[in-house]
Amino acid sequence: MSFPKNMSVTYFCWTCKKEHVLTEDIAGSLGVKCDSCDGYIITPSGRVQVHMRPVVSVFLFNDGEKHWIAAKTLEEAERCFNAEYNEDRNKYTLEEIPYEQYHVCNIRDKDASSGKEITTSLLLCIQQADSFPALLASTVY
Ligand SMILES: [Zn+2]
Repeated sequence: MSFPKNMSVTYFCWTCKKEHVLTEDIAGSLGVKCDSCDGYIITPSGRVQVHMRPVVSVFLFNDGEKHWIAAKTLEEAERCFNAEYNEDRNKYTLEEIPYEQYHVCNIRDKDASSGKEITTSLLLCIQQADSFPALLASTVY
């Protein structure tokens, strides 16, 4: 398994269920032992119990248009939004998107090379971002 970009990966010990954060040095290793018990985090055959989450949260700004911004905190997202749009706080609404919706929240975007409208998910946008905070997408009505 390659190290996923912009994702935080947690492994669970098969025996005591302790959480271990995946680091580059054990990604792809086999037979990795738990530091709390005699169990395996990664079995000798490579089996894992894994939980993956993005390293950022997604916030939806609505000022008549919708803007999805990925950032570590709400404050960071607002700074990013204001740097781009500089709008009064009473001119837009703001909500955090629940993680469960990252896979299914389909947003329209323009393909960079062809200019055609494509449908993508927040999770894919996060995995393609080079740095955060980042404006993932905007929808214009
Ligand atoms: Zn353990």
